[in-house]
Amino acid sequence: MKSVILAVFLSGAVALAARVEPQTPKAPPIKSSPMDTIAEQYVKLVLAMGQHDADYVDAYYGPPEWKKEAETSKVDLETIGLRARALRADLERQPRTATPSGASSKSGDAEMWRLRVQYLDRQLSALEARVRILKGERLSFDDESKALYDAVAPARAETEFTEVLAQLDRRLPGGGPLQQRYEAFRNQFVIPRDRLDAVFTAAIDACRRRTLEHISLPPEERFTVEYVTGKSWAAYNWYQGNYRSLIQVNTDLPILIDRAIDLACHEGYPGHHVYNVLLEKNLVRDRGWQEFTIYALFSPQSLIAEGTANYGIEVAFPRADRLEFERRVLFPAAGLDPARVDEYYDVQSIMDRLSYAGNEVARRYLNGDIDAAAASAWLEKYTLASPARAAQRIRFIDQYRTYVINYNLGKDMVARHVELESGDEDDTAARWVAFEQLLSSPRLPSGLRK
Ligand SMILES: [Zn+2]
Repeated sequence: MKSVILAVFLSGAVALAARVEPQTPKAPPIKSSPMDTIAEQYVKLVLAMGQHDADYVDAYYGPPEWKKEAETSKVDLETIGLRARALRADLERQPRTATPSGASSKSGDAEMWRLRVQYLDRQLSALEARVRILKGERLSFDDESKALYDAVAPARAETEFTEVLAQLDRRLPGGGPLQQRYEAFRNQFVIPRDRLDAVFTAAIDACRRRTLEHISLPPEERFTVEYVTGKSWAAYNWYQGNYRSLIQVNTDLPILIDRAIDLACHEGYPGHHVYNVLLEKNLVRDRGWQEFTIYALFSPQSLIAEGTANYGIEVAFPRADRLEFERRVLFPAAGLDPARVDEYYDVQSIMDRLSYAGNEVARRYLNGDIDAAAASAWLEKYTLASPARAAQRIRFIDQYRTYVINYNLGKDMVARHVELESGDEDDTAARWVAFEQLLSSPRLPSGLRK
């Protein structure tokens, strides 16, 4: 669940997932409701899709025999699509508003039940869309993102990015192209390789401590960091079940100081790790909802996952707190000059306003309006990517297509929802409560408050 993910890694992840057993969280409850059967069929369909699409199953910690069954039966795409449609018809017959018989009647159950039915229906329709895409059908950028992620990214004009670049141009004076001046500036804030672990450990500890002040997590939750090379992604978190996550940080390319808190929050606390722990605790273990033992990458759940992970950075570290912590702890740990914290983050906050340029280039490229060379030139001009980074980004878009919207649009949608739910924007505690509620429920992107 991070930016650049390759199939070659995913197959490794699946192998590792298999090794996590036999500590399965909990045996599925006795099949007492038709919804349990539908949930089981959903998990099996996602596993079946994984046989055709190496990227599809991002994490799975349900019964290992279901995975083996998918590998041996190798259901064809046509059949998967038909089964998904039939399962949605079964769902149609389920009560949408009433509390199911046999379920506890604690407050909020009716709402959770409604969200569960809607979620399964929408995840299945995204699965059907992915089947059509794998069979060669091409949708427009917006139609595809709507079908897979339940959201459409707003179009942004180039003039908006031009204004941001002009501001950056004034901020980074000197000769040569702006892209090179920006690269030279960034290179002064690289974390030396021999200090990387100390910096990351300090960032993770701080993110975890801040999260635990507001969210209770099971005492056995764990988050392991590994440093790896030879990957095409910057970092990757995948969930192993039993409240455990593994994060791998790729050290092939220089890692800049802002990545410490960004990655610690996004991948760990209160991002992906906490999201998965809360889903396992609240939905899988407490309620027996098996559909949450699997995570389908090309589905609406990804917008919620990436959106909460990115927004979680600001929840854990509001800007003033972050600058203070960077100055006092992280810059010294990285051997960087603490007096330059404000300067660095001023430039970063200008750069953040270019994030939607990445969506625009993906939209044009995938719609066939521009070719790869033009897309690369666009990225270099409007996101200040170096030619190498632009080329890597094009490869990402080729593989993950409209997934790109989940990071920035997802963050903006989640921020809006949480801020409306929590009311007063200065009420930090209320913001954490609303954020935890979102992390603990199967809410769809279209169900977020606007
Ligand atoms: Zn992520």
